[in-house]
Amino acid sequence: MEDRGFVNSYDNYLCFAEFLLNMTLNISFLSYVMKQFDEAAQTIGLSQDLCDVLKKPERSIIVSLPCRMDNGELKVFTGYRVQHNSARGPYKGGIRYHPDVTLEEVTALAMLMTWKCAVVDIPFGGAKGGVKCDPKNMSQAELERLTRKYTMAIANVIGPYLDIPAPDVYTDAQTMAWIMDTYSKIKNEPAPAVVTGKPITLGGSEGRNEATGMGVAILTREVSKYLGKPLKGARVVVQGFGNVGYISAKLLQEMGCRIIAVSDSKGGICSNEQLDVEKVLNHKKMTGSVINYEKAKNITNEELLELECDFLIPAAIENVITSKNADRIKASAVIEAANGPTTPEADRILFEKGILIVPDILASAGGVTVSYFEWVQNLTRTKWSIEEVRANLERKMVKAFDEVMKFAKEYKTNTRLTAMVVAVKRVAEAVKSLGSWP
Ligand code: NAD
Repeated sequence: MEDRGFVNSYDNYLCFAEFLLNMTLNISFLSYVMKQFDEAAQTIGLSQDLCDVLKKPERSIIVSLPCRMDNGELKVFTGYRVQHNSARGPYKGGIRYHPDVTLEEVTALAMLMTWKCAVVDIPFGGAKGGVKCDPKNMSQAELERLTRKYTMAIANVIGPYLDIPAPDVYTDAQTMAWIMDTYSKIKNEPAPAVVTGKPITLGGSEGRNEATGMGVAILTREVSKYLGKPLKGARVVVQGFGNVGYISAKLLQEMGCRIIAVSDSKGGICSNEQLDVEKVLNHKKMTGSVINYEKAKNITNEELLELECDFLIPAAIENVITSKNADRIKASAVIEAANGPTTPEADRILFEKGILIVPDILASAGGVTVSYFEWVQNLTRTKWSIEEVRANLERKMVKAFDEVMKFAKEYKTNTRLTAMVVAVKRVAEAVKSLGSWP
């Protein structure tokens, strides 16, 4: 709220109302994440001691960041870094810049990172960071100063063997380059492994940009095998045509699927036959949206989700499949590329309808997996080819999917709970093996 200033009592009231709303939404997101954990813990009969340890972040930091704006004004931003658990390895998680960032939201996301790294079995714990700011209304110079201030403030708790940030909402490879540079200067040695998602010239990995979409495509192929449905000719619907949605659609088309509908924030398009993903991308580049593509019919995002198809891939925002539309979802499987696209009530409805869900912590784990490969390359001073990155990602994602489906059969639970069970079990075993010291 400090960034907006209080011009008069009406503004003051609006700020307070927004603050309360955000608090309510974020606290419920955190309690939803806690509820998922509780269910998994109960399923495997986790001891109360381990539950107590795993429900609390190991460290939460709030930092004040006084920053000079281009007009000479000094603004004090608030930044966070929450380190949830490090039993399986250094903390790992992105940094987001957004006006709605709160400690509660960052805490929930840090906990989710612990489970995401564990479910694909990469040797990282979970963390998340954020700065409450409005990056869309800041210059590059202001963003650079803010990023360097934030890095200085958290420099003692991040590091190549301690906590490795990555890009998230409204941060990118350039933000990571500034963090790496600031951290390296403070420590007086080059430290490329302190962040992942860097530009390739600074030690970033081949394939990092396409990794999440590639993971989604690999898992969609595995789901088709699991369900005994041929991939060739399978009808795929993708909500969101950004980094993840576009790459998923492109790769699945290359694998022989028919992409029958895609969308972005302005609306969707569908075709009775199939869409040419590259041509739709060119149309979006020229017009700013996928809508009004000449060889397709315009539809709403709501209609898109309810189309009859084999695989539905929500790759845009959270809470799009809810108790209001879950009953009308006609896909055989939902592969959750986005974070949190399905509400808990909708989850139950889809499960009862027999729709297979590949939950977000598994379906969207391709990105953090290739981040791990980037970190390995930095520490070993090696450079993998794109083929090596793809082959290793394929191996990791397929293994994780097989493990979750095996547990789903064993515990007779839905796949979301199963993925959480696999993850929580791994982290709990690590915490137990480490013991407690001092
Ligand atoms: P992006 O910004 O590149 O693309 C988002 C797309 O969603 C855009 O096409 C946008 O127009 C569309 N969109 C926004 N609001 C929408 C709405 N209300 N209805 C329909 N479409 C809407 O983002 P991205 O990197 O592709 O990420 C997509 C999702 O995947 C997010 O939930 C993100 O958290 C998740 N995710 C991304 C990564 C990654 O590596 N990029 C990793 C893990 C999870």
